[in-house]
Amino acid sequence: MRYQPVIGLEVHVQLKTESKIFCSCSTSFGATPNLNTCPVCLGLPGALPVLNRKVVEFAIRAGLATNCSIVPANIFARKNYFYPDLPKGYQISQFDLPICLTGHLDIETAGGKKRIGITRIHMEEDAGKLVHGQGTGSGVDLNRAGTPLLEVVSEPDMRSSDEAVAYLKKLYQIVTYLGICDGNMEEGSFRCDANVSIMPAGSDRFGTRAEIKNVNSFKFVKQAIEYEILRQSELIEDGGTVMQETRLFDPVKGVTRSMRSKEEAHDYRYFPDPDLLPVIISPDWISLVKDSLPELPEARFNRFLQQYSLPEYDADVLTASRPLADYFEECAQASGNPKAAANWVMGELTRALNDSSTAILQSPVSPAKLADLIRLIDSGAISVTIAKKVFEDVWKNGTQPADVVKQQGLAQVSDSGAIKAAIDKIMLANQGQVDEYRNGKEKVFGFFVGQVMKAMNGKANPAVVNDLLKQKLAAE
Ligand code: ADP
Ligand code: MG
Ligand code: ZN
Repeated sequence: MRYQPVIGLEVHVQLKTESKIFCSCSTSFGATPNLNTCPVCLGLPGALPVLNRKVVEFAIRAGLATNCSIVPANIFARKNYFYPDLPKGYQISQFDLPICLTGHLDIETAGGKKRIGITRIHMEEDAGKLVHGQGTGSGVDLNRAGTPLLEVVSEPDMRSSDEAVAYLKKLYQIVTYLGICDGNMEEGSFRCDANVSIMPAGSDRFGTRAEIKNVNSFKFVKQAIEYEILRQSELIEDGGTVMQETRLFDPVKGVTRSMRSKEEAHDYRYFPDPDLLPVIISPDWISLVKDSLPELPEARFNRFLQQYSLPEYDADVLTASRPLADYFEECAQASGNPKAAANWVMGELTRALNDSSTAILQSPVSPAKLADLIRLIDSGAISVTIAKKVFEDVWKNGTQPADVVKQQGLAQVSDSGAIKAAIDKIMLANQGQVDEYRNGKEKVFGFFVGQVMKAMNGKANPAVVNDLLKQKLAAE
């Protein structure tokens, strides 16, 4: 039988605030274990949580950017469970009244645009971490306890691993554009639980789902979902039934493994946290946040098409991240040649950044310098080939493009006298090819262009070389 996969994602977005959600401890990553703690995030009895206003603002931003409605009076709830990294015995989260409800994101799929529903977004605190394999027992590090998270829950609207990844990338792009998440997936700042079920193709009754916990890369999400679809199909083909359970993905073996049978909401004994007041959000606050939203990727993509006349492909690549889009815009404006700026940013610059694993914000070639380089090409001062050499120099030595051209004598030669002299020499040395050309073998023209360029160290103006060569070769 053919099966239709159904996928819903729960994404945890770690918020980029200075301090934790209910205390003033630092959220910095990698500190000495338990350094960033206090009675509140250690869960000591009697310590009272105080809500970080920034967390609410970030949640509103996320809600507005994903077309959610903001719940004007939302409530924190206790989610009760036992684990050594959770000293209070409950996680402060939100349950039946989260801060954002019913939004959506549009993704590109093989079959065109598709709308994926967002059920809810709620605020919650992260738990601590267990440290194994150091010393005799296991350790508990509570630095991460109380780090603010948003959980973004999607509707079960995705039908393939590709759609799930497209949705995830879109959400990632939005939260990083919004500046509410640092996007560091290796450190767990953006991770997801993938819910996967299958049903017979054509059915409208969803099957039982398995939930794959804490997957922290786009690649792994794709692998985990595909493995899970295969596992469930084979199970059903063999006459078995899918259990509702929580599974873990093993990135080394590329398989998912059962962790525990899945708990239901009622297992957690959710109840409103009596230590925290309802979060009241006024319409004024919402409009203030709305006005402060940055231009989002989709809007920027459309503006790039219009304002810079870029092809869709370029606009898509260049709006992938905010720093990349910023870099391009600065370069496009300073050079006055947006298409050339796009080509250089997507080509030479991206290659150099990748080769050296450099973030664009740390690029040794600034947008202004790249713009200078483009203007040198556009004014005819240097050829594109030479410009690539100049780029390397600027990248390595932090030089100015115009200085490199001057100091290394790289300026393009358009002077016909010098070029004619080079042509004469080459024709004399290659009489055979000259005859071939004159007998109609036009292919050897390329050979002459190459030779002349070589003789002039790549500095000859190619248009002038072409013109003069045609004249000279034609003449008997
Ligand atoms: P929980 O919080 O217990 O994991 P929820 O009801 O909040 O459960 O659902 C979590 C996620 O599971 C949502 O993203 C939802 O879209 C997805 N989901 C629900 N039912 C299915 C299903 N049959 N197949 C795939 N995903 C599902
Ligand atoms: Mg879940
Ligand atoms: Zn604290």
